Amino acid sequence: MSNADLLQRSLNAVWHPCTQMKQHASRDDGSLPLIPISRGQGVWLYDFDGNRYLDAISSWWVNLFGHANPRINAALREQLEQLEHVILAGFTHQPVIELSERLSALTDNALGHCFFASDGASATEIALKMSFHSWRNRGRDKKQDFLCLEGSYHGETVGALAVTDVAIFKEAYAPLVRSARTVPSPDARQAKDGETSEDVARRAAAALEKHLEQHHESIAALIVEPLIQCASGMAMYDPEYLRLARALCDCYEVHLICDEIAVGCGRTGTFFAHEQAGIKPDFLCVSKGISGGYLPLSIVLTTDTVFAAFYDSATARGFLHSHSYTGNALACRAALATLDIFKSDQVLDKNRELSAHIGHCLAPFGNHSRVKHLRQRGMIAAFDVITDDPYFSRKFYREALAREILLRPIGSTVYFMPPYTISNDEFAFLAQRAAEALEAALK
Ligand SMILES: *Cc1c(COP(=O)(O)O)cnc(C)c1O
Repeated sequence: MSNADLLQRSLNAVWHPCTQMKQHASRDDGSLPLIPISRGQGVWLYDFDGNRYLDAISSWWVNLFGHANPRINAALREQLEQLEHVILAGFTHQPVIELSERLSALTDNALGHCFFASDGASATEIALKMSFHSWRNRGRDKKQDFLCLEGSYHGETVGALAVTDVAIFKEAYAPLVRSARTVPSPDARQAKDGETSEDVARRAAAALEKHLEQHHESIAALIVEPLIQCASGMAMYDPEYLRLARALCDCYEVHLICDEIAVGCGRTGTFFAHEQAGIKPDFLCVSKGISGGYLPLSIVLTTDTVFAAFYDSATARGFLHSHSYTGNALACRAALATLDIFKSDQVLDKNRELSAHIGHCLAPFGNHSRVKHLRQRGMIAAFDVITDDPYFSRKFYREALAREILLRPIGSTVYFMPPYTISNDEFAFLAQRAAEALEAALK
């Protein structure tokens, strides 16, 4: 088997996401190569022609402890021999119970009820539906609207697009979507001369307050990506915004949904990003890294108050939502193995050292004449490239692959989101090759 064999078959039969298929087939400036992968080991991916690629974006932000992780593999093998899956309506099993208990414990049991689905967009939809329905069950029928931040990303199904504010994903489908209202983002890059990131956060919170003052009666929830708006280009913001937003949501009786699908599971330095603001949300969406990057799984955690709003003998007052693979035993077991690694390897502590090393390796980009806003929080780092080349992102991607690294800029934002198992040497290699790729892409 060679790359070339599989490439053509894939182009014929597989409809790849997030790219025009024509770009995969073409050879011009706008082309994007398609790479058949034969296996993965640690931070490395290997193709069929013997090339390797350092997976510096954790295969779309899902992989935490490397490919073919021996401990997750072993847990899944054991689970396969016991139970692969069982209907979660009317049945239960050990992995789903244990995972629910352990996730709740990670919120200090403030969010003690876990609802399961298979992907991030479904988690968003569940949180929106639950928020709306819980208000209605409490006689607050008017609360039917949602608020999201400018530049927010919460998934791409028709329901989730309502709270996603990224034009490229949304515009084509706008007629199908019942859009939420957007309020200003606290993106720290918006700081004016002399302003701190905290000032920007206060300014954005003041705009939120103004909106809530006028419209709170019709608003069910505000949904945010805590600390980093990842998909719109790693927009980082001060925790002060979350503190103020929490207080405003309490004051105006609006739910706060924290979408930690990307920023959860240790990415920002704490297990959940909202911990850094010392707040608790009403809903918490978790996915991506929770299964270690092995299997599709998402969870929405919520409070006793929300749970109680549905607790009744009437079916119509219950939460009406189900997926075939809800609470899949294998996916839950992969998540348990992932949580085990966090504990036994003291991952959050180790990541503090690793993120300092990452900052050190990337510091030279801060002096580059074509780079601005070099920024980092925990295990996510990014910078913006000053360019008006519409093909910059694809050129950089190709130049990076040619140098054995997988980095996929979002527009002109280059970001790093590696597995936590990356070694210091591997990250130094990554930073060096990224610098070479940048020069080549800017030429
Ligand atoms: C990726 C992502 C989603 C959507 O998750 P999918 O599994 O891709 O549907 C939702 N919210 C955030 C913050 C994300 O990063």
